[in-house]
Amino acid sequence: MIVGVLVEITSKSLDRIFDYKVPSNLKDKIKIGLRVEVPFGSRTIVGFILEIKNKSDVNNLKEIKAVLDEEVILTDELLELGKYLHKETLASLISCYQVMLPKGYKASIKNKVNPKYHKVYYLNTNVNKTLTTKQQEVIDLFKGKEKIVREELKEFSPAILNTLVKNNILTVKEEELYRLAYDQVTKKEKVLTEEQKKAVTNILATDKTVSLLYGVTGSGKTEVYIDLISKYLAKGLKSIVLVPEISLTPQLIKRFEERFAGRLALLHSALSDGEKYDEYRRIVRGEVDIVIGARSAVFAPLTNLGLIIIDECHSDSYKQDNNPKYNAKEVAIKRAELTKAKVVLGSATPMLEEYARGLKKVYNLVALTKRAGSHNSTLPTVELIDMNKEIKRSKGHFSLPLIEEIKKTIAKGEQVILLLNRRGYSSIVTCSNCGETIKCPNCDITLTYHKASNILRCHYCGYATKYQVTCPKCHQDSLKDLGVGTEKIEEEIYQYIKEATVIRMDVDTTSRKGAHQKIISSFAQGNANILLGTQMVAKGLDFPNVTLVGVINADTSLMLPDFRSSEKTFALLNQVAGRAGRGEKKGRVIFQTFNSDNYAIKFAKENNYLAFYQEEMKIRKLMKYPPYYYIVSLNISSKDKNMALIEAKKCEKVCLKYLDKTIILGPSPAAIFKKQNVYYYQLILKYQHQDNLHEIMEKLVNYYASITKVNLDLDFNPIHL
Ligand code: ADP
Ligand code: ZN
Repeated sequence: MIVGVLVEITSKSLDRIFDYKVPSNLKDKIKIGLRVEVPFGSRTIVGFILEIKNKSDVNNLKEIKAVLDEEVILTDELLELGKYLHKETLASLISCYQVMLPKGYKASIKNKVNPKYHKVYYLNTNVNKTLTTKQQEVIDLFKGKEKIVREELKEFSPAILNTLVKNNILTVKEEELYRLAYDQVTKKEKVLTEEQKKAVTNILATDKTVSLLYGVTGSGKTEVYIDLISKYLAKGLKSIVLVPEISLTPQLIKRFEERFAGRLALLHSALSDGEKYDEYRRIVRGEVDIVIGARSAVFAPLTNLGLIIIDECHSDSYKQDNNPKYNAKEVAIKRAELTKAKVVLGSATPMLEEYARGLKKVYNLVALTKRAGSHNSTLPTVELIDMNKEIKRSKGHFSLPLIEEIKKTIAKGEQVILLLNRRGYSSIVTCSNCGETIKCPNCDITLTYHKASNILRCHYCGYATKYQVTCPKCHQDSLKDLGVGTEKIEEEIYQYIKEATVIRMDVDTTSRKGAHQKIISSFAQGNANILLGTQMVAKGLDFPNVTLVGVINADTSLMLPDFRSSEKTFALLNQVAGRAGRGEKKGRVIFQTFNSDNYAIKFAKENNYLAFYQEEMKIRKLMKYPPYYYIVSLNISSKDKNMALIEAKKCEKVCLKYLDKTIILGPSPAAIFKKQNVYYYQLILKYQHQDNLHEIMEKLVNYYASITKVNLDLDFNPIHL
C-alpha cells in the first residue's frame, strides 16, 4: 500500500504530493484526509493523505511513521473545496487545507493539541457498608447525579476517594470531557411577524442556491435564521451560521442557545486552542447540528449540510487578508453547490455586488421592510449637524445639540451609543514650528498618540516610542497632537457632561480574552450611560434602552482612498443608527459631519438604501469598478526599493502583452508604500471578460515563487485597494 501525502511545507516549489509506503501494522488505519507523520530529508513532518494507491513512479520509497487521527476532518467535501480554493486564489494547496483547520488539526509537527481526560466517579447502586461522615458527604453529593468529575470533589482527599473505590462503592473512569461548557437554557419561541413568515416561506421555496435577505436594522433577521434552521433540522439537515467576528456577542449566541441547546458548536478567535479542538471533535462526531462562527467556520466539517447563513454579509471580515485570500461568501456558495445546500446572505446594507445580483435575479431577493420588535419600534429619526457651522461654538468635538441630546437622554435614565471610528487619543502628531509629522520609522504612516500609556504607536507594525514634546527635526518643544481618537473623546465627555459614565470599546480595551463580552454585559446591565467606541459599537448589538446614537465624525471613512469608501460610510452609518430605539422607546440619531451634502451621508440620514445604491452604481459604472468590472490587485514588494519598481514594471509588461481586454493601472506606490522596511508597488487590473487572465496570473505567481528577493502577492476581487 502506498499513500500520496501533501506535506506541511510552505515553500511554493514543494507544494505537491509525495509518495510513501505504508507499513503493514498501519494499513488498517489509512483513510484519505487523515494526518500522518512522515520522514522528509532528515526531519519528521506531518501531512495529509490525499491518495491511496498500489504503485508509484518513485523508487526507494520511505515509510510513513504514524497515523495521527482516527476521525476524518478533511472530508471529501472539504478536499474538493481546498482544490477549488487553490485554483481560485493561486495560493499553495497545503495553505488552502491548513486554513480550513484549527491549530489542533493542522498538519504540524509542533503545536499538538490533545483531548482532555478527567477522572470521573460513578456511584455503584448497592451501598451496604457503614460509612464515615466524610465518606457519607461524598455519597450525598451524588443525589440526582450519575457521575461527578474529580475537580468537583476538590475538598476530599485522594485517600477518601480511593477507599470508596476499593470498597466498590464508587467506580472511577478516565473520560474525555469537552473544555467548553454551554448554558442549557430553555427554549423560547417567538411568533414570527407576517413579513418574517413570508420571508421564510420564500427562502424555503426558491430553487436558486443563494437568497439575499435584505432587511432593515431591527427587522428580525435573526428570528428568520432561527426558523429556517429548525425547518432544515426537521428534514435532517444541518446548518452553518457565519457572523463577523465582532458580532459574536453573548447576545447573539444566547438567542441561538435558547433554541438549540446542546446541539450548537461555537468557533471564534476568543476560544483557546483546546476549546476549538474540542468543538471540532463534537462536530466530527455528529454531536452538533449547528455551527456558529466567524469566517473560517465555513469549513466546519459538518455532514448533511443543508443551509449556510451569512449574517451582515456586507462585512469586510469575510475576506481573509493573507494567503489564501479567500472570501467566505464565495466558498459558502461553492460548498452549497457541491452539496446541494442553500445559502442565505443577510444584511440591511448589502454590498453593491450582492444587491445587483438580487435585482438581476441571480440571487433570490427577499426583503424585510419593517422593524419586528414591538408595535412602537420604528426606525429612528436622523439629524445631520453641519460642523462647518457648529464648530465655532462646539465644545471640543461635540456640537451643542449633541451635548444637549446626550444630557436629556441620561436624565431620562436611557442610554447613548457614541461612535468615532478611530482609536487612540489623536491620530497625528505635528510640529507647530517646522511642520514635521511623526511617522513610523519602518512604515510610511503617521504614529498614533495613546495618552494612557503616553506613547506613540504604529497601528501597522506595532512600533512604539515614548511621546515627547521636542520635535526630532527642529528640536523645538512644539510637537502638538491633532486629529482625534476614542481615548480623547472619552476625556472630552467627562469634561463637558458631568453626569456621564462611559464605557469605551475599541481594540485597546478589548484585547484581553472575554473583555468584549464583559463590556457588553456591563452596558446592558446599565453600569454606564454611554457606550463609546469604534465600529465595534455599530454591529449586531441589541440594547432596548439605547435611545440616542451619536456619530462624532461621520466623515472618517469617507476620506479613505478606496472605491468602496462611500459604500462603507453608508453601511457604517446605517448600522450604527440601527442601534437606536430597538425596544419600546423611540430612537434618535445625530450625525456630525463636515460634508452634509455628500450623497452617502445624505442617504444614510434618510435611511434610503435604494437611493444610495442607484447613485453609487452610476459612479461605479463611470469609474469602471465592481460590480461592472472585476478587479485583480498585484502587489510587488521587496526590501530593495529599486528592485520592487523594476519587477512591477516587468509585471506590467507581461499584462500589456497578454491581456488585451484588460485595463491596467500602475505600477504605483501602494497606499502604504513602506511597511516594516519592505517597499510595495501595486498594479490594478480591471476587466469584464478576459479568458486567459487566470492562466497569465498563474504563470506570474509561479515565476516569482522561485525568486527570493521579490514577492508577488495577488488579490482577486479585493475588498480594499
Ligand atoms: P436584525 O438582525 O434584523 O437587526 P434582530 O433579529 O436583532 O434584527 O431583531 C430585532 C429585535 O426584534 C430583537 O430584540 C428581537 O428579539 C425582536 N424580534 C424579532 N422578531 C420578533 C418577533 N417576531 N416578535 C417579537 N420580537 C421580535
Ligand atoms: Zn510601523
